[in-house]
Amino acid sequence: MITRFAPSPTGPLHLGHAFSALTAFDLAQAAGGTFLLRMDDIDRVRSKPEYEEMAFEDLAWLGLSWPEPVLRQSRSGGRFRAALAQLDALDLIYPCSCSRADIAAAAGAPQEGVPEFGPDGRIYPGTCRGRPISDMKPDDAIRLNMAEAMQRGPLPSFYETGPEKPGRHALDPKLMVQGVGDVVVARKGQAAAYHLCVVVDDTAQNISLVTRGMDLFDATPIHVLLAHLLEVPIPYYHHHRLIRDEAGKRLAKRDDARAIQKYREDGASPQDIRALVGL
Ligand code: GLU
Repeated sequence: MITRFAPSPTGPLHLGHAFSALTAFDLAQAAGGTFLLRMDDIDRVRSKPEYEEMAFEDLAWLGLSWPEPVLRQSRSGGRFRAALAQLDALDLIYPCSCSRADIAAAAGAPQEGVPEFGPDGRIYPGTCRGRPISDMKPDDAIRLNMAEAMQRGPLPSFYETGPEKPGRHALDPKLMVQGVGDVVVARKGQAAAYHLCVVVDDTAQNISLVTRGMDLFDATPIHVLLAHLLEVPIPYYHHHRLIRDEAGKRLAKRDDARAIQKYREDGASPQDIRALVGL
């Protein structure tokens, strides 16, 4: 069993990250498995070496250890390009030049019963669908043709081991087409986008259990579909509860008040952090 904690070094780690990392570490320990750390630093503008350094320090202080070297997503460009070439060979991707404003305008007025947003943002109205990859311009993104992808082979499913939605989940073609749509697999100027990066790097690291927060549960069918299309193993999943503030809001990067560093400065112990997140 191999699981991982994969933060993006775009801010200090907070209590939500501590809970996620400790959960993955504890699951690995309990199963006699391996806990890996990965830096999801594909966003070269927002990722900062000082946040990465801080994350290493905080996680070690919490009592976690992991094998070196730590995989950095920014070094996985070759793997991402190979995955995109595979999807292109399947005729499932196309370049897209639409801005957010273009997409909002083309989507038109919301219709009763049709979702406007999915786990990848506003559902893409399909403006660029049909453009060949050979037509790709330097500023284009790349999207997956979801309706076409859902036609390929027996539909995959995934097994959730977390406490919130345990059991096997099948992909729902209607939901994937209408409620998720043509997701971005490469952003302009970047080798790949989040959904593809996670699948390719989890495969490269032989991750058998993906541990992460419930906020990503709805994105999981996208990852399972990509793994299926790329013909790589579909891991098990463990989506844990989210750590919220007093108002019930999920902690975000801007919640620096709950940064692990702050608690450390105030003299908290790693056990105090475990207690604070209910472990
Ligand atoms: N890098 C992702 C994040 O910071 C977590 C990895 C995943 O999606 O499994 O939210």
